[in-house]
Amino acid sequence: MSLSEKILSAGVIGAGGAGFPTHIKANAETKIVVANGAECEPLIHKDYELMVHFGEEIVEGLKLLRESTGASKALFGIKKKNTVAINSVKKHFNGSNIELTYLGDFYPSGDEYELVYEATGRLIPPAGISLDIGCVVNNVETLYNIFKANKNEPVTEKLVCVTGSVKKPSTFFAQVGISFKELIDFAGGASVKDFGIFIGGVMMGKLTFDLDEVVTKTTAGLIILPKDHYLIKRKNQPEQNWHRIGKSACDQCSFCTEFCPRYLLGYQVEPHKVMRSLGFTKTGSAVWNQMAELCCSCGLCTLYSCPEDLYPKEACDKAKTEMRNEGIKFVQQKPVKVHPIKEGRRVPLNQLIQKLRLKDFDKPAPFNPEKPIAHSVKILLKQHIGEASFPLVKEGENAKEGQLIAGIPEGKLSANVHSSIAGKVEEITGGYIKIVK
Ligand code: SF4
Ligand code: SF4
Repeated sequence: MSLSEKILSAGVIGAGGAGFPTHIKANAETKIVVANGAECEPLIHKDYELMVHFGEEIVEGLKLLRESTGASKALFGIKKKNTVAINSVKKHFNGSNIELTYLGDFYPSGDEYELVYEATGRLIPPAGISLDIGCVVNNVETLYNIFKANKNEPVTEKLVCVTGSVKKPSTFFAQVGISFKELIDFAGGASVKDFGIFIGGVMMGKLTFDLDEVVTKTTAGLIILPKDHYLIKRKNQPEQNWHRIGKSACDQCSFCTEFCPRYLLGYQVEPHKVMRSLGFTKTGSAVWNQMAELCCSCGLCTLYSCPEDLYPKEACDKAKTEMRNEGIKFVQQKPVKVHPIKEGRRVPLNQLIQKLRLKDFDKPAPFNPEKPIAHSVKILLKQHIGEASFPLVKEGENAKEGQLIAGIPEGKLSANVHSSIAGKVEEITGGYIKIVK
């Protein structure tokens, strides 16, 4: 079996958040492979811990990918401040000609467009992918999973960082499908009575109050914050408020655009114009909301740049959905050219943490080799970009740990799904398979 076939069989998808099926990337021919160890979401430290404790597996995954894609160059993007992680991965390079790309401690340094530019000096074409300029980028946990797939081990666990208002902030492997309640209990329990949970981070993640939600192959971690924290109150507004307030209060100062990392890289992303379009009732190529198309939803404009505490990121998200529904595709008019002030406008992570009122929660989350015990798991059929996978088991059947339980629809972009525990298939719905130990 080729590496790409093994990856497909093991159900590896991008673990960094997007969930793009990895077998497609491993099957490509490219010149450069890049490991993304940039991790920049405030408080989340799971990639750092993975690099410290599993440096060899990550580097081997990168070498396997370089071989399978025929790339002549391998780069490893990592923050300069993370010296322990740097030493942990570097000692496994063994003359294999992997180069380190040292990154500053800025937000967002893990955005693929940003990382590729930092590592190679190349700019991804507007709305393009890194493959368009001869690069394949993978998050370090994806590389770890590639290493395991090569040994025929499917993805049944996810490395998560559980931090914030918990008694024992920590990073550990958890079974795909385990509930958030069990994760929080494993991290010592919440240290406050009323709390909200940011899934995957406060900048790009989602807010929930539902402890029954479950871990997927892309869950980076949980940030628990008291219910009266500024970020919970800010995020927990009804959607119509975001846009109603924006319509009346945006003074078009354009700070949101001036600090936008995509705008500074030279892409036509102008959130202040998208905010202006909130006054219109329609979407369309003649309306300013097309300036949202190349936004990466990093959240900087909403949570850092806007002096009025408005919601330009959310306006961009809404604009992108409306444009997609209308079938309108924005084509950048100008050549991509890095803004001369880019370096001077980067946002230090520390400053962002301060602004987000997270200083008191910014603690290490050391790796714990123990795992929570899952008595039942709810494994989602769509954890990846593309089509949902379809069940290959029936209710009442027994499933083994690591057994393939959902497959890829013929000819579609999708990913295999495996059981993360041994048990009985109790329920199958259009959205998930529930297995009870
Ligand atoms: S920073 Fe805020 S007030 Fe200024 S243009 Fe952007 S959304 Fe409007
Ligand atoms: S979320 Fe805001 S700052 Fe981030 S890319 Fe989109 S428009 Fe730019």
